[in-house]
Amino acid sequence: MIDYRTNRNFALAVDARDPLAKYRERFHIPKTKIGEDCVYLCGHSLGLQPKSARAYIEQELLDWERLGVDAHLRAKNPWQSYHEILAPPLARLVGAHPGEVVAMNSLTVNLHLMMMTFYRPTPKRHKILMEASAFSSDQYAVKSQIKFHGYDPETSLLELQPRAGETTIRSEDIDALLEEKGDEIALILLGVVNYYTGQAFDIKHITQAGHARGCMVGFDLAHAVGNLPLSLHDWGADFAVWCSYKYLNAGPGSVAGCFIHERHAQDCDLPRLAGWWGHNKAKRLLMEPDFEPIAAAEGWQLSNSPILSFAALKASLDIFDEVTIRKLWVKSRVLTGYLEFLLKQFAGDMLTIITPADKNQRGAQLSLRVKNDGGALFQALLARNFICDWREPDVIRVAPVPLYNTFLDVYRFAGAVRGSL
Ligand SMILES: *Cc1c(COP(=O)(O)O)cnc(C)c1O
Repeated sequence: MIDYRTNRNFALAVDARDPLAKYRERFHIPKTKIGEDCVYLCGHSLGLQPKSARAYIEQELLDWERLGVDAHLRAKNPWQSYHEILAPPLARLVGAHPGEVVAMNSLTVNLHLMMMTFYRPTPKRHKILMEASAFSSDQYAVKSQIKFHGYDPETSLLELQPRAGETTIRSEDIDALLEEKGDEIALILLGVVNYYTGQAFDIKHITQAGHARGCMVGFDLAHAVGNLPLSLHDWGADFAVWCSYKYLNAGPGSVAGCFIHERHAQDCDLPRLAGWWGHNKAKRLLMEPDFEPIAAAEGWQLSNSPILSFAALKASLDIFDEVTIRKLWVKSRVLTGYLEFLLKQFAGDMLTIITPADKNQRGAQLSLRVKNDGGALFQALLARNFICDWREPDVIRVAPVPLYNTFLDVYRFAGAVRGSL
C-alpha cells in the first residue's frame, strides 16, 4: 500500500523507482504543436503506437515485395500460418490454451460469429442478458441476432440496470436476476469492463451462476484485454471477443480476437458460419466442396488473414510478453489509485468518480462526472493538450495506461483539472 502525496516530487520519485517506466520509451507519444509530449490518457480508446510496429509491418511489405505469392510459405513469418504465432501470446493475455484463441476479423464480426454458434434460442429459453446501455455496437449486434432468429428484442432482451440513484451494477442484483429468470436466458453477454463506467465484473462468479442456470456465457473483452489479468479457460467462459486497438496497441481497426472454450472449440459438430480458412489445414488447398472444421478456435476463421494488421499486433504482443500482464496490473492499480486520490484531493467537491472505488471492480479507467459543465472541462483539458475522452451524455473517461503513462502524467492531469475547474 502506497502512501500517496499531493506534491509533484512524489510523482517524480515514484516514476524514478518504477521498474516499468522504461517501457514508455517503446511508444510514440503524441506531441503538442511545440513538440512537447501530450498527456495521453486515452489508451482505452486508441492505444499508442509501439515504435517497433513500423519495422514489423515493413518486414511484411518487404516479403511481399521480394516474394510475391510465395510469401504465403516463404516469408520470415509465413503468411499462411501467421495467425498461429499470435495464438500463444494472446492465450497468455486472456488466460487460455493456444487452441482456444484466434486472431481474426473485427470485434463486432466476431461477436456475430459467436452468437451464430452460441445463441440458440428456443421458445422457452430465448433471452439474452446484457448490461443496460452496453456499447452501441454490442446492442445492435444482439438486437439484430434476436430478430434474425424471429424473436423480438422487447421480450427477448433483458438488461441489467443499476439501482435507482446508483451508477454501477451490483453483483447481488445479477444473482437475483439469474435466480428469477435464469431459465429463460439463452445467453449472458457482458462487457468485462463496462466501456462507460469502467466497472469490471466478476467473470468467474457470473460464469458459474449462469452455467448453473443452463445459460451460455460470453464476454466482450474490449476494455479488459491488456488491462486486467484474465483466466478465461479456468473460469469456464463459453466464448469471448475483443478488439486490439485499445489497451492492446495494435493500431486503428486492427485485427480482433476470439476465445472459444476447449469443450466447444474441439466440437466439430457445432453449428457455425464457415469459410475456407476454418477448414482442415491439411486439405485447405484441395478445394473440396465439404467443410471440415479445424478442431480449435481456428475452425471459426472465415478468410485468409490481414497480415499487415497481424504484424502491428505482433509488435505489441511481444512487448506484453516481455512485461507480462501481471506486472502491468500491479502498477496499474497503484497508478489508477493515484489518479483517484489526486482527483479527490484537488477536485473532490466538483466531480464524482462513477467507476467503483473497489480496485477489484475496475481496471485502468476512471469515469468522471462533473457537477456543472463537464463538456467545458473536457474542452479546456483538450486545449491544454490533455488527451482523454468525452462520452455522451456526461462522462469524461481517463485511463492511465501502465505501459506508457507516468505518475507525472497523472499529477499533471489532476492539476489541470483543478486549474480548469
Ligand atoms: C470498442 C468497442 C467496440 C468496437 O467494435 P468494433 O467492431 O471493433 O468496431 C465494441 N464493443 C465494445 C464494448 C467496445 O468497447
